[in-house]
Amino acid sequence: MAYHGQLSPHQQIKLVNTNTHTHITVQSSQAGQQQGQRSSYTTGPWRTPPTLWRTEAGYILRIEAQSSIVLQIQAGGAISLLRELPPLGDATVLGLDRIPDAEILESMTPMEPMAPMEPMSPMEMRMGNMAMKMGDMALQPMGINPPPPPANTTNFCPQCGAAVQQSDRFCRACGHNLNP
Ligand SMILES: [Zn+2]
Repeated sequence: MAYHGQLSPHQQIKLVNTNTHTHITVQSSQAGQQQGQRSSYTTGPWRTPPTLWRTEAGYILRIEAQSSIVLQIQAGGAISLLRELPPLGDATVLGLDRIPDAEILESMTPMEPMAPMEPMSPMEMRMGNMAMKMGDMALQPMGINPPPPPANTTNFCPQCGAAVQQSDRFCRACGHNLNP
């Protein structure tokens, strides 16, 4: 589940709940510069949608989940954990909009910490991400590029650059000996 809200004309908040964590991103854009503050908390799944208030001390966010948390977001974007809900007085509740599930995956991909892995070539990396996306988005084929042709069947002639098959002994375009 995920929600986003507008803190101010230049500041947005995004809340994403996975089964185990709540990820909070506060993004400010000022003078063309984008700045983000991001925090993650172990909350378990939300029980109700999060609530956001605007107070004199900044914004207060309550996440009701397996482990409920209260957060304070200062005007500058800094996020801190509070022990309990402060007196809200005449605080204003700010609306949060539900983000469709399809968009969550897009936005989550760069936020999830990557498992440590061996250095990979760009091609393998791209296929790794793609495989992951396809696993998460089995019913969402939109936005997935067709896989590149398998790397082991197409080579390029070192002489003229034409595409050649791995089984070719000579380039079909210029006749260069591919297996000298
Ligand atoms: Zn050639």
